[in-house]
Amino acid sequence: MPDAVPPATVPPASPAFHTTDWHAIPHEEAAGRLGVSTAGLTPEQAQARLAEHGPNALPETAGRSPLTRLMAQFNSALIYFLLAGAAAALVLGHHVDAGVIIAVVLVNALVGFVQEGRAEQALRAIRDMISPHANVVRASRRQSVEARELVPGDLVLLEAGDRVPADTRLFRARGMLIDEAILTGESVAAAKNEAPAARDAALGDRHSMAFSGTTVAAGQGAGFVVSTGPHTQIGRIGRLIADVEPLATPLLRQVDAFARRFTWLAIASAAALFLFAVAVRGYGWTDALMAVVALAVGAVPEGLPAVITITLAIGVRRMASRNAVIRRLPAVETLGATSVICSDKTGTLTRNEMTARRLVVAAEGGPGEIAVSGIGYDPDGGLNWSGAARGDPAEVAAALLRCGLLCNDAHLHTENGVWRAEGDPMEGALVALAVKAGLNPALERGAFAREDEIPFDAAYRFMASLNRGLQGEALVFVKGAPEELLKLSGSPGGGVWEAALARAAAQGERVLGFAMKRLAGAPKRLAFDDVREGFDFLGLIGFIDPPRPEAIAAIAECRSAGIAVKMITGDHAATAGAIACQLGLAATPEVATGVEVDAASDGNLVELARRTDVFARTSPENKLRIVRALQSTGAVVAMTGDGVNDAPSLKQADVGIAMGHKGTEAAKQAAEVVLLDDNFASIVAAVKEGRTVYDNIRKMIAWTLPTNGGEVLAVVGAILFGLAMPMSAAQILWINLATSATLGLALAFEPTEPGIMQRPPRPARAGLLTRFMLWRVVFVSLLFTLAAFAIYGQAVWRGQEMEMARTMVVNTLVVMEIFYLFNVRFLHMTSITWRAALGTPAVLLALAAIVAAQLAFTYLPVMQAVFDTRPVALLDGVLIVAVGVALMIVLELEKALLRRLGLFAASDM
Ligand code: ADP
Ligand code: MG
Repeated sequence: MPDAVPPATVPPASPAFHTTDWHAIPHEEAAGRLGVSTAGLTPEQAQARLAEHGPNALPETAGRSPLTRLMAQFNSALIYFLLAGAAAALVLGHHVDAGVIIAVVLVNALVGFVQEGRAEQALRAIRDMISPHANVVRASRRQSVEARELVPGDLVLLEAGDRVPADTRLFRARGMLIDEAILTGESVAAAKNEAPAARDAALGDRHSMAFSGTTVAAGQGAGFVVSTGPHTQIGRIGRLIADVEPLATPLLRQVDAFARRFTWLAIASAAALFLFAVAVRGYGWTDALMAVVALAVGAVPEGLPAVITITLAIGVRRMASRNAVIRRLPAVETLGATSVICSDKTGTLTRNEMTARRLVVAAEGGPGEIAVSGIGYDPDGGLNWSGAARGDPAEVAAALLRCGLLCNDAHLHTENGVWRAEGDPMEGALVALAVKAGLNPALERGAFAREDEIPFDAAYRFMASLNRGLQGEALVFVKGAPEELLKLSGSPGGGVWEAALARAAAQGERVLGFAMKRLAGAPKRLAFDDVREGFDFLGLIGFIDPPRPEAIAAIAECRSAGIAVKMITGDHAATAGAIACQLGLAATPEVATGVEVDAASDGNLVELARRTDVFARTSPENKLRIVRALQSTGAVVAMTGDGVNDAPSLKQADVGIAMGHKGTEAAKQAAEVVLLDDNFASIVAAVKEGRTVYDNIRKMIAWTLPTNGGEVLAVVGAILFGLAMPMSAAQILWINLATSATLGLALAFEPTEPGIMQRPPRPARAGLLTRFMLWRVVFVSLLFTLAAFAIYGQAVWRGQEMEMARTMVVNTLVVMEIFYLFNVRFLHMTSITWRAALGTPAVLLALAAIVAAQLAFTYLPVMQAVFDTRPVALLDGVLIVAVGVALMIVLELEKALLRRLGLFAASDM
């Protein structure tokens, strides 16, 4: 491969690449050693160097080994308890029971091991969907490449919010501050410039370098990559970027704590019951011990944590397929509880496909309006006076159009015959506008060469560029928020511009102002002080940016789901209000500006934030205060952001959401969720999936507790009332083993219940068990117990032997668990529908497995020998299924009755 490199460059293997004094030599010398010019590398060079130096990536941290992961499955109080039970059974000579308990443990560990592995894998794969990119110049063309593909010599462009992709020698730095905390521990961002640093400078003082993994906090710059991957400073100190996040969420911890408490309760009750059985009822002590061990094993919800992990992982995958990438697992739960969504306007609620529609220019006798025709970035179209003609519109507006073209970093190009903008869409629209008016962008930009610029920043809302005029004079062009620009120009026109601005904004147009001035001398640099006053105001341009149709639908969905939507934008109040109207955010949206937010005390802001629909002309600091104010009302707040200054509010929000396209790396790092398509509708889809996940977890608990409770209560009742045991210890354990691995798992795959977005959000601190669910646990446990005794009693009464009666009881309980599963699948509506009867593939699979298991348990000679079962007659089988049907009917009646009585909140049921 190296022979593909032109002779002028240093061969990649040359020791020059491994010099360590990049920071101390002039950048021209660095470029020479790297064999690169300001045109960047050629694609062939880049390819050759990639082959030579390898990808720009750090070795992955080795994940936990499979063995450690498997062993971790056994490391829980529940499992210790089960193993103790197995040991006790073994000592007492109950080999079958010991075997079944061990099987329970093994099946549980295996399911947990496999599913947790899949969950981690899913998270890793999803993380790769947001792999970082870098802006480079190659063969004189600006392009975005994967950070992995960077090679020494690459010319990278850096701006605020970027993560530095490789160690880079800067040759240009404008107001550049870099946060190097991960490397140096220094929390104050380091100022950068292109001059060589002292040879013996410490890492934190190498002001001419940008180091891989650090974040650009402000300004912009460019440099040449000097080392990549493991050769970078961060690679050398061996500090690897954090790998997969631990699979722990508040909910999982809550369930873990609950399970632990439950285990102790089960052990204590079992001990008491054992004493009672031996002392009062006169059972033999080995029999009594085995019975209570089986009982306690049956009561313990050992499978629950694993099943919840699976549910969360499925949620993550479903969200990713709806373009919401989860970066931190707890967000899956929090999304479901979201009660307020604060969203950007441009690009999230609107399409961010801008078209210039209207020009307002200074003309003879006051500002005149020009209409622009044409669609998209297609340069087809023209300019026409809206009122009386006042000369050639392109000529009258020439200065305005040129300002829009020069104070601009966008380029247009065609892709399969469609015109596209590279760069900011609004700037792209300005280029298209200039072409419509007959200007040639390349010629103009060549004639008025750019010397320097002040990039746009949401904090000051303008962009300025310093260009060389045709006579060599220094010209400053600015474009930005019209109010700011009118101020710079000394408020000309006595209010006519403000009126024109208000007219355009009221129609939802995004309005930009333009101004210019001439600087004395021939400065090479543009400073903020040059952009304070003395400008000539050139005019206004209004752009349309249509609302996304899917956002309109999503906002309506939020309304029915009890989720408030607030627009937070840097745009003009009138523009934002008009767009909010078009989006259906409110009939007459309440609009507040950043100035009002600044003026409000923390206390007053709470009320202001609650009633306001649209926050306009806001600063990133406003966002942070708005989130805090909303949170103080108990709201669960989701907040979108894209800029580096949005990071604090993204962190503060309950769910920080970064934009995948236009978002900076800094925003993505701070966020819990990254939106691949920047689309508001995707947020709402993720909320819906979050609600589904939470529902499914509740369903799992609603199914597990009463079924466990039913088994237990039947045995407890028998001991308390001195009745015959309706099941043997081994049989209790069998039910536990057979159902938890099949039926319990199926609920993790439940689809979204219809009407899920017609409910209000769940209260933030709601416990998993609502009062209704507690009632259900008790009621269903009692029904199970009742049925067990009834079946046992009728069998004995008909003269059946005890073994046959017990076999029937076991089958009855399993059948009831199956029917109860179908009931639980719909917490919020009746379960007797077609949809319910059809089931999901997961439910049907679980059903087939459990039926096969029960048939084997009842009719297979081996199983009959092990579990002491008898073949149940066909008519008895019908009776058993009938009990299940009866349970279904009773529970539906109960739901209807409770609803009529209004004993429980409707949202609980
Ligand atoms: P939004 O919330 O709509 O994304 P921004 O914070 O991006 O708003 O922009 C706020 C205001 O700054 C805009 O209304 C516009 O007046 C101005 N502005 C936006 N982009 C640019 C730019 N590239 N150059 C100059 N001014 C801009
Ligand atoms: Mg913006």
